[in-house]
Amino acid sequence: MFDLIVVGGGPGGYEAAAHAGKLGMSVALVEKKRLGGTCLNVGCIPAKTFLHTAKLVRDAREGAAYGVQVGTPTVDQPTLVARKNRIVDTLVNGVGQLMDANKVQVVQGEGRLVARDTVEVRTGEGTERLQAANVMIATGSKVAKPPIPGLDSPAVLDSDSVFDLPELPASVAIIGGGVIGLEFASFFNDVGVQVTVLEMLPSIGAGADDDVSRRLLKALQSAGITFHLSAKVTEVGPDGVRFTDAKGTEQVVVAERVMNAAGRVPAVAGLGLEELGVEVRRGVVTTPEGRTNVPGIWAIGDANGRMMLAHVATREGIVAVNTIAGRPDRMRYDAMPGVIYTSPEASWVGPTEAQLKQAGVAYRKAQVPAGVSGRFLIENEHGSGFAKVLVDARYGRLLGAHVLGDVSSEFIVAAAAMIETELTAEAAMEVVFPHPTVSEVLREALVRVAHV
Ligand SMILES: Cc1cc2nc3c(=O)[nH]c(=O)nc-3n(C[C@H](O)[C@H](O)[C@H](O)COP(=O)(O)OP(=O)(O)OC[C@H]3O[C@@H](n4cnc5c(N)ncnc54)[C@H](O)[C@@H]3O)c2cc1C
Repeated sequence: MFDLIVVGGGPGGYEAAAHAGKLGMSVALVEKKRLGGTCLNVGCIPAKTFLHTAKLVRDAREGAAYGVQVGTPTVDQPTLVARKNRIVDTLVNGVGQLMDANKVQVVQGEGRLVARDTVEVRTGEGTERLQAANVMIATGSKVAKPPIPGLDSPAVLDSDSVFDLPELPASVAIIGGGVIGLEFASFFNDVGVQVTVLEMLPSIGAGADDDVSRRLLKALQSAGITFHLSAKVTEVGPDGVRFTDAKGTEQVVVAERVMNAAGRVPAVAGLGLEELGVEVRRGVVTTPEGRTNVPGIWAIGDANGRMMLAHVATREGIVAVNTIAGRPDRMRYDAMPGVIYTSPEASWVGPTEAQLKQAGVAYRKAQVPAGVSGRFLIENEHGSGFAKVLVDARYGRLLGAHVLGDVSSEFIVAAAAMIETELTAEAAMEVVFPHPTVSEVLREALVRVAHV
C-alpha cells in the first residue's frame, strides 16, 4: 500500500512524485512509455533544440549586418536529430535519477484505475495491482486529429513524428497557427523551407494579447512565412491542402509535406475514470488543488485540459501533493507565464487587455518599444518588439505583462514574480534590473505606468 500512485511520468507526474517522496510519502510512478512525458521526449525540449539550430542559421545568414561574413548556412538534419536525441536522453536519465533520489518506485507499464485506491498496471509480463490512499492522474495530452479527410494519413507530420524527420522538405503546409504550429513555422522558415500556415481563427497564437498576436504575425510574414487566416481546412490530399478562405472561396496549398498542428487533447480515455464516477469533460474536472469529485483521486497537468504547459503541470502537481500532505498551497493561474518560442519570441503572464475588458476590470497600461533597451538594439539589428504592462486602475497592482522580442522568455518570470507577490508598479521600481539587458524594456514599461 502506497501513500500515492502517480499515473504518468511527464513534468507534472514526475515532479509531483519527487516532491511527495521528499515529504516522506511512499510513492509509485507508473509510466507506459519513457519518463519525461511529452515535454522531454516530443515537446518542449526537442522543439527548443530544433529552434536553437534555426537561430544559428538565422544568425549566420544575418551575420553581415553585424560585421561577420559567412557563406550560405545549411542544416544537416541527421546531426540535428542526433543532437536532439542526446539532449533528450540526458534529461530522461536525469528524471530516473531524481526518482531514485526520492525513493519513488517507477513501474513501467500502462496504468488503469480499477477501484478508487487501486491501479492495475499492464506491464510487458502481465498485470500487477498497486494500491494507495491517493491516486494522481498525470497522463498528459495527445495530438488532436480533427475529422478532416486525409489528416490521419501516415504521410502527414505531427509534433510526435516531426522530430525524427530524416530530411528537410522543400515546402510545408502547417495546419494550425497556435503555439506549436507557429514554433514549427518559425523553425522551418529559418532553415530554408517554404512555409504556409493555415489558421481557422482570424488571428494567430490563440491566447496571446491582440497586440502581440498582430505584431508577431507581421514579423513572421516579413520573415517569409505565408499565412491564411480564417481558413477552414476541408481536405488533405496528394495535391495539397484544400481550404475555404475567409470569403468562402475554395483554395489549395501545394506543399511537399503537411503538418497537423491543430492542437492537443487531454489523454484521459481508457483510464477507468468514468467507471468510478470521476467527472470528465474535455479533461478531468478538478478544483485548483487538483481534487476530482471522487475523494482520493486527483488530476493534474495537461490531463485536466486547463493550461497545457509544462511548468503549469509541475506547479499543479506540487500544489496537489502539498494539499494531500495537509500543507496549505494554492494555484495562481494568473501568474503562469506563457511563451511562443518563435523568432521573435512572444512572452506573457496574466490576463490580456481583451480579457480584462471582458471581465470589466478597470486598468491602466503602458507600452514601450523594445528599442528602449540598448541590449535589444545591440542584438537585434533588424528586429522590433515591445513590452506592454497592465495594472489595476486603482492601486497600480501589476495584472499582466505582454512582451514581443528576443529574449523575453528569459525575463518574463520577473513579471510573474511581481504578479505572484501582488506588487504595484510603484513598488516594482525598487527591483533593480541589470544593465544592459533586454529585461530593461519591462522596467521602462513599469516606470511609465507607475507615473501615468
Ligand atoms: C511540440 C511541443 C512543444 C511544447 N513546448 C512547450 C514549451 O516550450 N513550454 C511548455 O511549458 N510546454 C510546452 N509544451 C507542452 C508540454 O509538453 C505539456 O504541457 C507537458 O508535457 C504536460 O505535462 P504532463 O505531465 O501533464 O503530461 P505529459 O508530459 O504529456 O506526460 C504524460 C505521461 O503520461 C504517460 N501516460 C499516459 N497514459 C498513461 C497510462 N495509462 N499509464 C501510464 N502512463 C501513461 C505518457 O506516456 C506520458 O509520458 C509543448 C508541447 C508540444 C507537443
